[in-house]
Amino acid sequence: MAYDDGNVFARILRGDLPCDKVYEDDHVLAFRDINPQRPTHVLVIPKGAYVSFDDFAESASDEEIAGFMRATGRIARDLGLKDPGYRILANHGRDGRQEVPHFHVHIFGGGDCGPMIKPAGK
Ligand code: AMP
Repeated sequence: MAYDDGNVFARILRGDLPCDKVYEDDHVLAFRDINPQRPTHVLVIPKGAYVSFDDFAESASDEEIAGFMRATGRIARDLGLKDPGYRILANHGRDGRQEVPHFHVHIFGGGDCGPMIKPAGK
């Protein structure tokens, strides 16, 4: 799947759309989800044009991948989530119900995140 430059996160990265930014460095931008599913719900995105987790894992440089992982941990820590705990999640493709075709990780926290996943068929 080719990268779509018009996706909403590409527009945020270009500054065409606003976001509630919580962190930025050379490789990463993080901002609050517009439709939060938990008291804290932050999205972490790479600045590079990667469609999905699969694309990022296959094509990003080691520096980008390491930077992304370090930043995600730091953001959760800085949000005060390390001790109470949190959940990170990446949706990929149709079955993962990925909506925005720019790789992103969700950080959920601020309360019990509930069961890991809804049982099949429920
Ligand atoms: P996913 O299903 O993993 O692709 O999730 C996409 C997420 O992006 C959803 O949780 C949306 O609420 C969120 N989202 C969509 N547009 C925006 C936006 N402009 N600013 C912040 N979050 C957004």
